[in-house]
Amino acid sequence: MTRHRGKFNINNPEPYELSRSRIENFIKCPACFFMQQVEGIEFPSMPGFNINEATDILLKKDFDYYREKKKTHPFLENHGFSHLIPFQHKHFELWTQSMHFGAENRMHYDHLESNIRVGGGLDDVWLNTKTSKIHIVDYKSTSQKKNNGPINLNDKWKEAYKRQMDLYVWVMKRKGFNVDEIGFFLYCDGNRFTDQSFLNNKNAMMEFKITLIEYKTNLSWIEVTLNNIHSCLRLDKRPKHSENCEYGIFINQI
Ligand code: SF4
Repeated sequence: MTRHRGKFNINNPEPYELSRSRIENFIKCPACFFMQQVEGIEFPSMPGFNINEATDILLKKDFDYYREKKKTHPFLENHGFSHLIPFQHKHFELWTQSMHFGAENRMHYDHLESNIRVGGGLDDVWLNTKTSKIHIVDYKSTSQKKNNGPINLNDKWKEAYKRQMDLYVWVMKRKGFNVDEIGFFLYCDGNRFTDQSFLNNKNAMMEFKITLIEYKTNLSWIEVTLNNIHSCLRLDKRPKHSENCEYGIFINQI
């Protein structure tokens, strides 16, 4: 039987593959979710954030160096986390491949009740040598517009980041790993307030302030949401536009 992804097919008994971003779409707007998954409407694609991708690649490269050596990273040591070392696993590289999360040995879990295959791509996993548990790690990049000090997760729109971490911890737990409820966000903040010169005679160097944020996950919303998605996928017609949506306000008047 072929994998069940893209447009939802009620006659396909295979687990329906939904990435964490599609699940986030449902949370933000079931109507949008339905249009994309059930009606097969293609939404305009967003241009990639290449600088964020570059910081992810460089961070992974740094941590891979210490993963190979089974040692902690000097950054972690310096911040009192010398008991955390980059986790080694034969499938680790596969877990990082978000585009193919539904394929064999990737980072996904089949939720039987909703028949949904939930997954995504991990940035990193660290082993806690004190507890033998693993921590899920997500790299984030930004450049704060105000010189506010360390980054936190208090902004409303960062709730999506928290849900991403919740889902990844849930998936890895369901896959049978001993996962700590604490996940880590490693945040790179391109420092636009630095006194250091940016451009030198050859190239330019940006300094990044780095914040390591511990986040206690909340898994209570996940199964309820998956079951709600299961119902939404089987609706006869598109759910109503949200009244609070800045676009939907106009659409409902048509
Ligand atoms: S216009 Fe707004 S309410 Fe309507 S589907 Fe899109 S996001 Fe949802």
